[in-house]
Amino acid sequence: MVENGSSQGLLALTAPWAAAARALESAREDRLFDDPWASALAGADGAAWLAQSPPEGVALIAVRTRFFDDYLLRIVQEDGVRQVVILAAGLDTRAFRLEWPASMQVFEMDQGAVLERKQTILDQAGAKPTCERHVIAADLADGWEASLTTAGIDSAQPTIWLLEGFLFYLSPEDLAALLGRVMKASSPGSYLAFDAINSATLTSPFTQPWVEMQARAGAPWTGTMDDPKSLLKRHGWKAELTPIGSPGTDHGRWPYPSAPDDDPEAPHLWLATARRPYRIGEGDSDQAQPGQAGPGASPLLLPLRKRP
Ligand code: SAM
Repeated sequence: MVENGSSQGLLALTAPWAAAARALESAREDRLFDDPWASALAGADGAAWLAQSPPEGVALIAVRTRFFDDYLLRIVQEDGVRQVVILAAGLDTRAFRLEWPASMQVFEMDQGAVLERKQTILDQAGAKPTCERHVIAADLADGWEASLTTAGIDSAQPTIWLLEGFLFYLSPEDLAALLGRVMKASSPGSYLAFDAINSATLTSPFTQPWVEMQARAGAPWTGTMDDPKSLLKRHGWKAELTPIGSPGTDHGRWPYPSAPDDDPEAPHLWLATARRPYRIGEGDSDQAQPGQAGPGASPLLLPLRKRP
């Protein structure tokens, strides 16, 4: 049982926040995705967060949800990968709402209490997975690889790993350790997707209101990466960064203008995707990975001023 006062308990509280944002987006006529269970999953905690969250909070979650939906389905279609592991899955319902091909295996890992509550609500709603779904209660701060093997993952086959809405809550050391474990557990041909902030995000006046709101809510942002591409490259992965709000991925939701990505002092929130090649040198050209906006996608800066 997760205690609410523990850091894991406080983090468990963040899962309904994301569900509440997905519920709000799902209620729009021009929705970017439809999560019919999000409102029930969000519950009172999610509604309370929505009431005090800035609109960017909802926009960020809506945009990143659609981005990772598109990314997962494109790789599955284009590259035939049939295993997805959603780490810190929280109240994610991709195993129910995406149209997966036959034989698709989706593994969800999170704290037991979060997964149990989710299961109860989904069962009450009569939700049925559109894939073979495996639910694994695990502490991501500890060794979790064996429980994934027990649940049936084929470690000899490529896997798509998704770490959404999680890394910025970790210490930089825990963040690096978790990414290291994921990379070690990945066979060649695997993919990895996550969202990340740089260290300037924690100090920039542009992002202070948000950073302070997170801290007040008991889930401070602490995990930063200033150069995710180089870090992944050192481990043999080829990464692409899509700044939140990039043309073609913001769907008119992200309210800030773009700016060149040439200032390390500027705050950045990236949607990162990476692939472990089958052999050294493979994919070294400027070819976009599946799910990428492409090499021409212009990087963006986080908040400067709102679009009129
Ligand atoms: N990825 C989901 C999404 O985007 O909706 C959930 C994100 S939520 C902000 C963070 C999740 O991390 C929570 O569901 C929480 O329970 C989970 N979490 C926090 N610490 C964890 C740990 N040590 N082991 C497993 N899960 C953890």
